[in-house]
Amino acid sequence: MTAPGSGPGSERERGSGPSARAIRQHAETAGLLGVGIVARVELGIVREDADAYDRWSHAPAPRPRERPKLAEGTIEPKPRPTPESAPQSAPGRRPSAVRSAYTPIERPAGDLAPERAQALLDEVRARYERDAPHQHFHTSFNNIVFGEGDPCARLVFVGEAPGENEDQTGRPFVGRAGQLLDKMIVAMGLARDRVYIANVLKTRPPGNATPTSEEAELCAPYLLDQIRVVAPSVIVTLGLPASRLLLGTSGSMRDLRGRFHPFPPEASSLGLAPVFGAAGDLPEIVVMPTYHPAYLLRSYTPENRKKVWSDLKQVMDRLGLGAA
Ligand code: URA
Repeated sequence: MTAPGSGPGSERERGSGPSARAIRQHAETAGLLGVGIVARVELGIVREDADAYDRWSHAPAPRPRERPKLAEGTIEPKPRPTPESAPQSAPGRRPSAVRSAYTPIERPAGDLAPERAQALLDEVRARYERDAPHQHFHTSFNNIVFGEGDPCARLVFVGEAPGENEDQTGRPFVGRAGQLLDKMIVAMGLARDRVYIANVLKTRPPGNATPTSEEAELCAPYLLDQIRVVAPSVIVTLGLPASRLLLGTSGSMRDLRGRFHPFPPEASSLGLAPVFGAAGDLPEIVVMPTYHPAYLLRSYTPENRKKVWSDLKQVMDRLGLGAA
């Protein structure tokens, strides 16, 4: 689904409303997401679609699994590698040392043509592959999952780390959680190729382990450069590791989600400022933390779905996407 005049290579979307087709699809898929009120455009008329909520509220949860209930915002209990099996960080390669040795990519100020932005992203990727920050922690992977999407997107999603499907394909969010993320994107009146999707870690952690803050910090400069190049208006962080990393906080999802946070954060324990520079050459960026789709699939309650939709609606409002 691509709005007319908005396909790859076309002019970057600038907040004009999505097409009627996009909004129709938005209404249908928002119903799948479990939203209460959905905007629908038909022949230019916007109205509330209460039917979508009815459809959703009677829809069965997708493939529920019997697993223990998890703390809010967590995805699943993930084993850490044993100390004996985990590689030791090389001396002098502590995350802070790696980060301060990193020179952020030079990005011309202002909007970039898609080809130029993509070329810069390719440079960041090549640098990631050369530096291989994952050599400093325990990982076993088949493919680096760098990130993909519109290099000039106004909206960036940041997840946690590749899972099995992502590791096999080299693409972010292509498994079950990715399918739900796709529905969320369409429900917002967008298409997957109109947003940019990345992860905190670019390689699959063993046993899908949750990234440690040290691992996240080692990979942060590359993610920050991706953000720097794309220069979105909004970043949606999916789950706790991405939210904590980009907000430089140890807060809980309960505290963080549901509102916009400035980016880079003013007082960050991660010292993100050097990566972004003090020049303020980027347009204003805000972060909206929300639940990870994998958590949503695991805790598929109307309450959680409404919370996520409420977060996404705020993002839609901010981007002028015609939220209900
Ligand atoms: N979960 C993530 O956080 N990222 C992916 O790419 C897939 C699943």
